[in-house]
Amino acid sequence: MASVSHTDVIATITDQAVTEVDATQNEEQLEAVRVRYLGRKGLLTAQLKTIGDLPEAERRDFGATVNAAKSRLSRQFESRLLALQRVSRASALTSESVDVTLPGRRNDRGGIHPVTRTVRRINEIFHRIGFDVAEGPEIEDDFHNFGALNIPIDHPARAMHDTFYVDDDHVLRTHTSPVQIRYMKTHKPPLQVIAPGRVYRCDSDVTHTPMFHQVEGLVVGVDVSFADLKGVLTYFAQEFFETDLPLRFRPSYFPFTEPSAEVDIGCIFCKGTGCRVCQRTGWIEILGCGMVHPEVFRQVDIDNEAYTGYAFGLGIERVTMLRYGVDDLRLFFNNELTFLSQFR
Ligand SMILES: [Zn+2]
Repeated sequence: MASVSHTDVIATITDQAVTEVDATQNEEQLEAVRVRYLGRKGLLTAQLKTIGDLPEAERRDFGATVNAAKSRLSRQFESRLLALQRVSRASALTSESVDVTLPGRRNDRGGIHPVTRTVRRINEIFHRIGFDVAEGPEIEDDFHNFGALNIPIDHPARAMHDTFYVDDDHVLRTHTSPVQIRYMKTHKPPLQVIAPGRVYRCDSDVTHTPMFHQVEGLVVGVDVSFADLKGVLTYFAQEFFETDLPLRFRPSYFPFTEPSAEVDIGCIFCKGTGCRVCQRTGWIEILGCGMVHPEVFRQVDIDNEAYTGYAFGLGIERVTMLRYGVDDLRLFFNNELTFLSQFR
């Protein structure tokens, strides 16, 4: 009875395998047992190869017996594997216990960039006295950046701007003043708005970077006067620098305002007695301003007989440097954490 002995052999091998599986203590041992019985050269696999020695009629039953043994063994392996994994997880949990008295791992806290901080502060100061905030595109056409601001094509003021040209008709805006034009074209007076944002000039040294920030201010209404402009800028400077500093208006020239002025504040470092920062003058220039030029009103279809207005523009990095005592403009843009982390 060849078939009986074959079946007996398989039963013996399988029983032996099950005993060995149950005796394993870890996944490595279990895997070794699996290879020994079910691997390509395993004992049970080898049995299938003897099928050729059997009479034709017995082969079918024999094949089924071997396969049944294999699947019984496979199930045994799986349940042993789960049991072993449970044990190793449980022991990991007890051995890797957490010492709750140890100090926690700290998250690195970020901070707001000093320029952003200043923009928010300026917005907030002007918001308190009724200014809205407007924005405009950083790629401007010639009309908004120059033409409408009374800077025609041959005007020498274009040379002052070191412009980045995108194409024949488009530039990276050289100032935030084009936002005035966009705002006046889409809103009817009375207007009271500031426009903070990035501007670009082809220039780089200790006090210039190719990209910097300005904030533009514009007020248009009936009987808006230079006295209003002085009042608003004095309020702003005193709020921004949190001190009762004096302002000085010096006559100046901008194509889009008439009359125009540059504004100095009393030096916040020496209180006007003269120091290195103010070059011994006691004054520091912070912005340019003036009454909106009638030609600018004409470009945006605002009646310059019925309305008057003023505009001002200031460099955000410049006032940030003054407020925090930073002496190199480039520090704002080279991403040094040691510098930036002071502003947390
Ligand atoms: Zn000074």
